[in-house]
Amino acid sequence: MRAAILSSPAEISKKPLEIVDVPEPAPLAGHVLLRVRACGVCRTDLHIVEGELPTRKTNLIPGHQIVGEVVTAAPDLPVGTRVGVSWIGGVDGSCWYCRHDMENLCDSPTFTGYTVDGGYAEYTLARSDFVFPLPAALDDLHAAPLLCAGIIGFRSLRVAGVQPGERVGLFGFGASAHLVIAVLHAWNCEVYVSTRGLSHQQLAKSLGASWVGSEKEKPSLQLDRAITFAPSGDVVIAALVSVRKGGVVAINAIHLDRIPEFDYDSLLWGERQLRSVANMTRADARDFLQLSAEIRLQPQVTVFRLDQANEALGALKRDTINGAAVIVP
Ligand SMILES: [Zn+2]
Ligand SMILES: [Zn+2]
Repeated sequence: MRAAILSSPAEISKKPLEIVDVPEPAPLAGHVLLRVRACGVCRTDLHIVEGELPTRKTNLIPGHQIVGEVVTAAPDLPVGTRVGVSWIGGVDGSCWYCRHDMENLCDSPTFTGYTVDGGYAEYTLARSDFVFPLPAALDDLHAAPLLCAGIIGFRSLRVAGVQPGERVGLFGFGASAHLVIAVLHAWNCEVYVSTRGLSHQQLAKSLGASWVGSEKEKPSLQLDRAITFAPSGDVVIAALVSVRKGGVVAINAIHLDRIPEFDYDSLLWGERQLRSVANMTRADARDFLQLSAEIRLQPQVTVFRLDQANEALGALKRDTINGAAVIVP
């Protein structure tokens, strides 16, 4: 099969992914073999490919927003079933977190496209208890970006404690935020978007944000909740500045450059909360995919071929994609 392989991380401009022929994955107990129909491109893929996250598997096939079709049947998964695979490829089921209903914090998780091979390929293996049958209302291209950006964006709304009708700030407006805004509108929330780049600002306006500004501007009203998406600590501080007393800022980023020193008295006191969002649970995935089908969530996508995997990641890095990049092998 064709696959994009990472043998040694490097800046994306150096094209670290090699598109080569490799053997199809061998069958593995408890797993299903999937033919990849589409695979979304996530910022975490860029962190892996560029080496900002430590290498966990050599000769890695990245990609963790996989829409696949079951090729070898498993219980409840007949051949031909269309399923989604996300970042959490498996958990141990036995650690303290798994036993306390917090599988997103599992001590020994499997990460798709990081600790095991992912979906930048024609075929992939996935644990059969970590695939999610996809509602017919979600087609391949539009389902792929939902599987990480969407699910984790949805989880960040839960972590931020968003209630229907609240004023919610989105700081950064990439793949995840442009999905989250649809969920917020379904919950009758007012959405305030702070983002750099004219194209992201225009996209936010066209998707119905009540207020759109640059990262230097401050929303005119105090926010109940804010979610930050940019890998920048400055943005976290901008979000803290914007929330009311008792408000919550949820950081939806696996990596931040740093957090600058800030004034506790004016920015955190008053029972404001700063929380991080880590991974996702299978319940988050199922609930979000069901909601997406109900509200007919249609993310904006840009399609790349498998041999353009480096270009897709490069475009993501340069912020030149509106919505989400999807690779179709
Ligand atoms: Zn991701
Ligand atoms: Zn665990």
